[in-house]
Amino acid sequence: MEQTTTAGLYVGGSWRAAADSFENRSPARPDDVIGVYSAASPTDVDEAYAAARAAAPGWRRTSPLQRAAILYRAASILEERVDAVAAELTREEGKTLAEAKGETTRAVQVLRYFAGDCAQPTGDVLPSVDPRTLLYSVREPLGIVCVITPWNFPIAIPAWKIAPALAYGNTVVFKPAELTPQCAVRLVEALDEAGLPAGVLNLVTGSAARIGEALTRHPEVDAITFTGSNTVGRRIQADATPRGVKVQLEMGGKNPVIVLPDADLGVAVEQTLRGAMWSTGQKCTATSRAILHADVADRFTERLLARARTLRVGDPMEPDTDLGPLVSEPHMNDVLGHIERAEAAEHELLMGGHRDIAAGSGWFVAPTVVGGVGRDAALAREEVFGPVLALMTADSVEEAIAIANATEYGLSASVFTRDLATAFEFVREVHAGVVHVNSETAGAEPQAPFGGVKASSSHSREQGKAAAQFFTETKTAYVTA
Ligand code: ADP
Repeated sequence: MEQTTTAGLYVGGSWRAAADSFENRSPARPDDVIGVYSAASPTDVDEAYAAARAAAPGWRRTSPLQRAAILYRAASILEERVDAVAAELTREEGKTLAEAKGETTRAVQVLRYFAGDCAQPTGDVLPSVDPRTLLYSVREPLGIVCVITPWNFPIAIPAWKIAPALAYGNTVVFKPAELTPQCAVRLVEALDEAGLPAGVLNLVTGSAARIGEALTRHPEVDAITFTGSNTVGRRIQADATPRGVKVQLEMGGKNPVIVLPDADLGVAVEQTLRGAMWSTGQKCTATSRAILHADVADRFTERLLARARTLRVGDPMEPDTDLGPLVSEPHMNDVLGHIERAEAAEHELLMGGHRDIAAGSGWFVAPTVVGGVGRDAALAREEVFGPVLALMTADSVEEAIAIANATEYGLSASVFTRDLATAFEFVREVHAGVVHVNSETAGAEPQAPFGGVKASSSHSREQGKAAAQFFTETKTAYVTA
């Protein structure tokens, strides 16, 4: 393997090392040390905020078109490096190389989308009761945004938070997940090389236990955008909101697909498996429940299992691998714990259900399908974040939608049907922020709003036109000549 690298903090426009460091290892081969990274201290966090504060007035006054030029350049720089960055992403996070390339390319597209958005109107001109008055609204930056991201999309999620934050004139303090610092370094390098002024973006790597509160409770923070677990997200919200800090949370999911008797079964099987197993199930939009109409349940299950048995688990660098490892040993144990509890609850383990030692020394778990799961079962309610699909049955479309809605989450949902009226009924009735007809529950295009209802989010949306609603606030101007 390549040599170990040491990456530093990026504060005030320059890279430096923190006093402490931590080692990161590959989930596919735990003896592979990927690199040694700076473990930021609360003092480093203070310095990052001081740099972001110092840079804020200048960046706020920059023309949006100048910001666009920097984001376009960063996109091109990252695009030239897609293959190299994707290989690093696979090594550090464990998803397959094809998925890592797709994700890195998505980060490029996100940078370009928000560069383009810089040239779009920022407000409205409105009629006024006084004909001499020009009445208009403009969107203004919030100030300093703290960006906290998870490990499962280590370059796309940071891009879709940082690009709009910068595009709309905010400065940023960015803390990536401890398990995926390398991708964060690569994204920041691209923006730095593209000419971002010093202090506009600052990176602090390290553990949340040490710097989490320093980041979210900092007196300089104006807004926090977070993607991660419900426990942490809610804690940040409860703490920040009373202080007037704007908070955006994207959290868990327990995303269902409904398969109806008139569905194209080939499509339904393929898309359900993609949603459940790709990225080893480690997506907030992953499919974790398949709600099967009783008239199609046996046929669907048989075809699903036949196809699932062909999935190859192994080294994510190999082109014919379908599923890489889970991201870490504790996470693997957590996923196996969900499976053990499902077995103890006497659900039917139809395939998988165990660590896959044959796949390698890393944190591999065999694709797992569990049948006979009732709507109140733990496996029907708790997010697993692994390659585990629960099969449930329903006797009607109405019952299937009721089961789909019977969780605290509401991120994404799919239906497989050829009937247009049923498709629209599903779109109308299902409690989810993102719905699909005849495609998997995962997937988010940069131009479309993304986010969940109920416990899946704080009800704001990311990406597309929705991003401006979080990263700016509106000023209304009455100008009378
Ligand atoms: P996951 O289970 O996906 O790792 P977490 O919610 O634990 O989700 O972590 C998501 C992000 O939030 C990571 O960058 C993590 O370091 C950070 N984080 C965890 N705890 C805190 C905290 N108390 N304050 C701020 N950030 C935190």
